Amino acid sequence: MTEPLIYELSASGRCGALLPAVGVPPSEIPAQFLRQELPLPQVSENDVVRHFVRLSQKNYAIDIGFYPLGSCTMKYNPKVNDVAAALPGLLWTHPYQPVYTVQGNLRLMWYLQEFLQEIGGFAAVSLQPAAGAHGEFTGIQMMRAYHLQRGDHQRKVVLIPDSAHGTNPATSAMSGYEVLEVGSDERGNVDLADLRAKCDDRVVGLMLTNPNTLGLFEEHLLEVLDLVHGCGGLVYGDGANMNALLGIAQPGAMGFDVLHYNLHKTFSTPHGGGGPGSGPVGCSAALAPYLPGPIVRRELLGECPEEEHEHDEDCYYYDWHMPECSIGRVKTFYGHFGVMVRAYTYIRMLGAAGLRQVGETAVLNANYLQQKIKEHFALSHERICMHEFVCVGRVEGSDVRALDISKRLIDYGFHPPTNYFPLIVPEALMIEPTETESQEMLDAFAEAMARIAEESRTQPELLHEAPHTAPMRRLDEVRAARDLVLRWEGEE
Ligand SMILES: *Cc1c(COP(=O)(O)O)cnc(C)c1O
Repeated sequence: MTEPLIYELSASGRCGALLPAVGVPPSEIPAQFLRQELPLPQVSENDVVRHFVRLSQKNYAIDIGFYPLGSCTMKYNPKVNDVAAALPGLLWTHPYQPVYTVQGNLRLMWYLQEFLQEIGGFAAVSLQPAAGAHGEFTGIQMMRAYHLQRGDHQRKVVLIPDSAHGTNPATSAMSGYEVLEVGSDERGNVDLADLRAKCDDRVVGLMLTNPNTLGLFEEHLLEVLDLVHGCGGLVYGDGANMNALLGIAQPGAMGFDVLHYNLHKTFSTPHGGGGPGSGPVGCSAALAPYLPGPIVRRELLGECPEEEHEHDEDCYYYDWHMPECSIGRVKTFYGHFGVMVRAYTYIRMLGAAGLRQVGETAVLNANYLQQKIKEHFALSHERICMHEFVCVGRVEGSDVRALDISKRLIDYGFHPPTNYFPLIVPEALMIEPTETESQEMLDAFAEAMARIAEESRTQPELLHEAPHTAPMRRLDEVRAARDLVLRWEGEE
C-alpha cells in the first residue's frame, strides 16, 4: 500500500536553525514590509531532513535508473562537473566584482563560447539565455533586428514544421509574429511543396529542428535552407538536442543562421526539476552584431612577445564586450554561470574525440533499441534514426493506449518515454536512450516493452490501472487540468 505524504509536521516552539549574532547595527524595516501573521512551519532540523529525503525517495531520477524521455536527453551527468562547479573560486564569485578579479571566470566563459562555436560551426556565441525556450526567444529577436535594420518591415510570418517542439510556435507568437505551419511528408521530412508555397517576402524565417523530433535527419535539408534563404528569410535551428551531431556535423556549416544549444541537455547539467539551465545562442557572422551582450572578448596584452602568445594564458586579458547592434541583455548579469562550468568541464573531459564518440554512441544506442522495440510496436517511420525514435503505443486488437504503456513501465522500474509528442503521431511514444546506457540496460528495457505488449493482449485492465507499485497511483489528469491545485493548503 502507498503511505500518505505527511506535510503537517509543525509543532509550536520547535526550531531547526541557529542564526549567528548580527555583526552590523540593525536598521529599521519599513512597516509595510512586515507581516505579523506568517505561519511558518516550526520544525526541527531532523524533521526537515527526514521530510525532504523521504520526498526524494518517492521521486525518480537519472541517478536511479533508465530515463528514455525523448527530446529531453536525460543522459548521465558526470559528478566531476558538480565538483568543478563547487570549486570555491568559481562558486563564491560575485557578479559585481571588478573584471580584473574574475579573469578565471571570464577565461572559462570565453573558452566555452569558442567550444560551442566550433561544435555548432558558428562565428559567434552568447552564453546569456537561461534555457532553450529563452534561447529561441533570443534568436527570433536577433532575426527581427536583422530584418528591421535592412528595412524589411513587412516580414511578420514564422514558418514552423508540424513536428516542432511546442516552444517554437510559442516563441514566435510571443514575439508578435504569425505562425504558419508547414506539413511533413510521409518519410517524416519537411514537405517541400508545402514549404515552397509558403515562402514569400513576408517570411521572417523558418524554425527547424534537425534531427527533428521524430529523431530523423532532414533528407532535403539543403533544399529547405535554399527555399527559405531564397525568399529572404533566415533559418533558426532548434539545437536543444545536439547529441546526434556532436563532433560529426555542424549546423552552421549546413547553413543555419542562428541556433540555441541546451547546456542542460546535451552538455550534461542535471535538469528536469526546474533548476537553472542555460540556452546559449550561436550565429553566423551576419547575425553576430545582434547577439545579446555582454559577451566575453579576449585581448592580447601589448607587452607579450609574439612567439609566446599561443600558449601563455598570461598574455591575454578577458573583458566584456557589447556587440555593435546588440538586442541588449536578455538576462540579469551574465547568465547561469554554474551551468556553464559544468558544460565546460564536460567538454574538456571528453575532448574532441570524446564528443564525437558521444554522438556516435547516442545514434547507435537509439538504432539498437529501435530494432528491438519494433518487434512489438510499430515505428512512426521505418528509417534509420538519429538520437531518438518514435513508436506507436498501440497493439493490434487491444484498447491499451500509449499512456497505459507509459504507466506500466513505471511498475517495471523505468521512467516512461515522452508521451503524445510529436503531435503528428497518434499514440506517440518518443524514446531517447542516450549514449550513457549499457547494452544490458537497453536489453532490459526492450524486454519490459515486450512483456507489456503481451500484457496488452492478455490483461489489458492491468495496464489501464497501472502504475501499481509507485508511491502515487494514476492521477486524474482531466481533473488535474481543470482544477489545478499548485499549493499545499493543509489538511481539510
Ligand atoms: C527541451 C527542448 C526545448 C526547450 O528547452 P527548455 O530548456 O526546456 O526551455 C526546445 N526545443 C526542443 C526540441 C527541446 O527538446
